Amino acid sequence: MQWRMTKLCINDAGWLQSVEVVESPNFDSRPDNTPVKLVVVHGISLPPGEFGGGHIKQFFCNNLDPQLHPYFESICSMAVSAHCLVERDGNIVQFVSFLDRAWHAGESQWRDETVCNNFSVGIELEGCDDQAYCEAQYVSLASLFAALRSIYPQITDDAITGHSDIAPVRKTDPGPAFDWAKLTGYLRD
Ligand SMILES: [Zn+2]
Repeated sequence: MQWRMTKLCINDAGWLQSVEVVESPNFDSRPDNTPVKLVVVHGISLPPGEFGGGHIKQFFCNNLDPQLHPYFESICSMAVSAHCLVERDGNIVQFVSFLDRAWHAGESQWRDETVCNNFSVGIELEGCDDQAYCEAQYVSLASLFAALRSIYPQITDDAITGHSDIAPVRKTDPGPAFDWAKLTGYLRD
Protein backbone atom coordinates (compact mmCIF):
# COMPACT_ATOMS: atom_id res chain seq x y z
CA MET A 1 0.00 0.00 0.00
CA GLN A 2 1.30 3.39 -0.99
CA TRP A 3 0.90 6.04 1.67
CA ARG A 4 0.42 9.59 0.45
CA MET A 5 0.65 12.75 2.50
CA THR A 6 -2.46 14.89 2.37
CA LYS A 7 -2.34 18.66 2.23
CA LEU A 8 -3.88 20.08 5.38
CA CYS A 9 -5.01 23.69 5.69
CA ILE A 10 -5.21 25.76 8.86
CA ASN A 11 -7.67 28.65 9.06
CA ASP A 12 -7.08 32.08 10.59
CA ALA A 13 -8.51 30.92 13.91
CA GLY A 14 -5.87 28.20 14.18
CA TRP A 15 -8.05 25.20 13.31
CA LEU A 16 -7.38 22.55 10.70
CA GLN A 17 -9.97 22.32 7.95
CA SER A 18 -11.70 19.00 7.33
CA VAL A 19 -10.62 17.18 10.48
CA GLU A 20 -12.60 16.00 13.49
CA VAL A 21 -12.87 18.71 16.15
CA VAL A 22 -13.43 17.93 19.83
CA GLU A 23 -12.99 21.15 21.79
CA SER A 24 -11.11 20.77 25.06
CA PRO A 25 -11.54 23.28 27.90
CA ASN A 26 -7.91 22.69 28.88
CA PHE A 27 -6.06 25.58 27.27
CA ASP A 28 -5.19 29.22 27.78
CA SER A 29 -3.51 32.00 25.84
CA ARG A 30 0.08 31.86 24.74
CA PRO A 31 2.18 34.66 26.26
CA ASP A 32 2.31 37.80 24.11
CA ASN A 33 4.89 37.87 21.34
CA THR A 34 5.66 34.17 21.61
CA PRO A 35 5.94 32.65 18.15
CA VAL A 36 5.27 28.95 17.71
CA LYS A 37 8.56 27.30 16.83
CA LEU A 38 8.43 23.70 18.02
CA VAL A 39 6.30 20.58 17.51
CA VAL A 40 6.27 18.07 20.38
CA VAL A 41 5.40 14.45 19.63
CA HIS A 42 3.71 12.42 22.36
CA GLY A 43 2.36 8.92 22.71
CA ILE A 44 -0.76 8.03 24.69
CA SER A 45 -3.06 5.05 25.06
CA LEU A 46 -5.95 4.63 27.49
CA PRO A 47 -5.88 2.28 29.22
CA PRO A 48 -2.11 1.92 28.65
CA GLY A 49 -1.41 -0.49 25.81
CA GLU A 50 -5.00 -0.53 24.53
CA PHE A 51 -6.21 1.32 21.48
CA GLY A 52 -9.62 2.62 20.45
CA GLY A 53 -12.52 3.22 22.81
CA GLY A 54 -12.52 7.01 22.72
CA HIS A 55 -10.98 7.41 26.17
CA ILE A 56 -8.28 9.84 25.05
CA LYS A 57 -10.91 12.28 23.80
CA GLN A 58 -12.78 11.92 27.08
CA PHE A 59 -9.57 12.48 29.04
CA PHE A 60 -8.76 15.72 27.21
CA CYS A 61 -12.32 16.95 27.82
CA ASN A 62 -12.31 16.08 31.54
CA ASN A 63 -14.95 13.42 30.93
CA LEU A 64 -12.99 10.26 31.68
CA ASP A 65 -15.06 7.86 33.80
CA PRO A 66 -12.93 6.68 36.77
CA GLN A 67 -15.17 3.61 37.17
CA LEU A 68 -14.14 2.14 33.83
CA HIS A 69 -10.55 1.21 34.69
CA PRO A 70 -8.31 1.45 37.78
CA TYR A 71 -5.80 3.52 35.81
CA PHE A 72 -8.48 6.08 34.95
CA GLU A 73 -9.01 6.72 38.65
CA SER A 74 -5.43 7.96 38.97
CA ILE A 75 -5.61 10.39 36.06
CA CYS A 76 -9.22 11.50 35.73
CA SER A 77 -8.75 14.68 37.77
CA MET A 78 -5.84 15.93 35.63
CA ALA A 79 -6.63 18.84 33.31
CA VAL A 80 -4.47 18.26 30.23
CA SER A 81 -4.76 18.48 26.48
CA ALA A 82 -2.88 18.44 23.23
CA HIS A 83 -3.57 20.38 20.08
CA CYS A 84 -4.11 17.19 18.09
CA LEU A 85 -4.44 13.44 18.44
CA VAL A 86 -3.50 11.08 15.62
CA GLU A 87 -5.40 7.83 16.03
CA ARG A 88 -4.11 4.42 14.91
CA ASP A 89 -5.73 4.72 11.48
CA GLY A 90 -4.22 8.18 10.92
CA ASN A 91 -7.43 10.05 11.76
CA ILE A 92 -6.63 13.50 13.15
CA VAL A 93 -8.65 15.04 15.98
CA GLN A 94 -8.04 18.66 17.01
CA PHE A 95 -8.78 19.77 20.58
CA VAL A 96 -7.20 23.22 20.91
CA SER A 97 -6.59 26.02 18.39
CA PHE A 98 -2.94 26.36 17.42
CA LEU A 99 -3.24 30.02 18.42
CA ASP A 100 -3.80 28.92 22.02
CA ARG A 101 -1.62 27.11 24.51
CA ALA A 102 -2.49 23.46 25.04
CA TRP A 103 -1.40 21.75 28.25
CA HIS A 104 0.74 18.88 27.03
CA ALA A 105 4.40 19.33 27.89
CA GLY A 106 4.49 20.20 31.61
CA GLU A 107 7.84 21.14 33.07
CA SER A 108 10.14 21.04 30.08
CA GLN A 109 13.09 22.56 28.26
CA TRP A 110 14.01 22.80 24.56
CA ARG A 111 17.45 24.17 23.81
CA ASP A 112 17.78 27.13 26.18
CA GLU A 113 14.07 27.76 26.76
CA THR A 114 11.80 26.32 29.42
CA VAL A 115 7.98 25.96 29.56
CA CYS A 116 7.63 24.49 26.09
CA ASN A 117 3.83 24.80 26.11
CA ASN A 118 4.33 28.52 25.50
CA PHE A 119 5.89 28.10 22.07
CA SER A 120 5.00 24.62 20.90
CA VAL A 121 2.27 22.58 19.28
CA GLY A 122 1.59 19.26 21.00
CA ILE A 123 0.59 16.24 18.95
CA GLU A 124 -0.39 12.98 20.60
CA LEU A 125 -0.06 9.74 18.69
CA GLU A 126 -2.29 6.95 19.94
CA GLY A 127 0.31 4.41 20.92
CA CYS A 128 2.73 3.27 23.56
CA ASP A 129 6.48 3.14 24.02
CA ASP A 130 7.00 -0.48 22.97
CA GLN A 131 4.51 -1.13 20.16
CA ALA A 132 5.21 0.01 16.62
CA TYR A 133 3.27 3.08 15.55
CA CYS A 134 1.21 2.73 12.37
CA GLU A 135 2.32 3.89 8.95
CA ALA A 136 -0.81 6.04 8.66
CA GLN A 137 0.21 7.88 11.83
CA TYR A 138 3.60 8.85 10.41
CA VAL A 139 1.88 10.13 7.28
CA SER A 140 -0.61 12.22 9.26
CA LEU A 141 2.10 13.56 11.55
CA ALA A 142 4.25 14.58 8.59
CA SER A 143 1.22 16.24 6.97
CA LEU A 144 0.52 18.13 10.17
CA PHE A 145 4.12 19.27 10.47
CA ALA A 146 4.07 20.55 6.88
CA ALA A 147 0.84 22.46 7.51
CA LEU A 148 2.21 24.01 10.70
CA ARG A 149 5.44 25.05 9.00
CA SER A 150 3.41 26.78 6.30
CA ILE A 151 1.84 29.13 8.87
CA TYR A 152 4.66 29.27 11.42
CA PRO A 153 7.92 30.02 9.59
CA GLN A 154 9.78 29.98 12.93
CA ILE A 155 9.39 26.18 12.94
CA THR A 156 12.63 25.02 11.32
CA ASP A 157 12.88 21.63 9.66
CA ASP A 158 14.51 20.13 12.75
CA ALA A 159 12.06 21.66 15.24
CA ILE A 160 10.15 18.46 15.94
CA THR A 161 11.00 16.61 19.11
CA GLY A 162 9.72 13.98 21.52
CA HIS A 163 8.18 14.65 24.91
CA SER A 164 10.99 12.52 26.35
CA ASP A 165 13.54 14.92 24.83
CA ILE A 166 12.13 18.01 26.52
CA ALA A 167 11.23 16.32 29.84
CA PRO A 168 13.75 13.47 30.02
CA VAL A 169 13.47 12.77 33.73
CA ARG A 170 9.68 12.55 33.80
CA LYS A 171 8.61 11.27 30.40
CA THR A 172 9.43 8.43 28.01
CA ASP A 173 6.91 9.04 25.21
CA PRO A 174 6.69 8.59 22.27
CA GLY A 175 9.17 5.89 23.25
CA PRO A 176 11.67 3.63 21.52
CA ALA A 177 8.93 2.25 19.25
CA PHE A 178 8.69 5.62 17.52
CA ASP A 179 10.82 5.54 14.37
CA TRP A 180 12.31 8.99 13.90
CA ALA A 181 14.09 7.95 10.71
CA LYS A 182 10.78 6.90 9.19
CA LEU A 183 9.24 10.28 10.10
CA THR A 184 12.22 12.07 8.57
CA GLY A 185 11.66 10.12 5.36
CA TYR A 186 8.07 11.33 5.14
CA LEU A 187 9.08 14.89 5.98
CA ARG A 188 11.41 14.87 2.97
CA ASP A 189 8.68 13.67 0.56
ZN1 LIG B 1 3.69 13.20 26.44
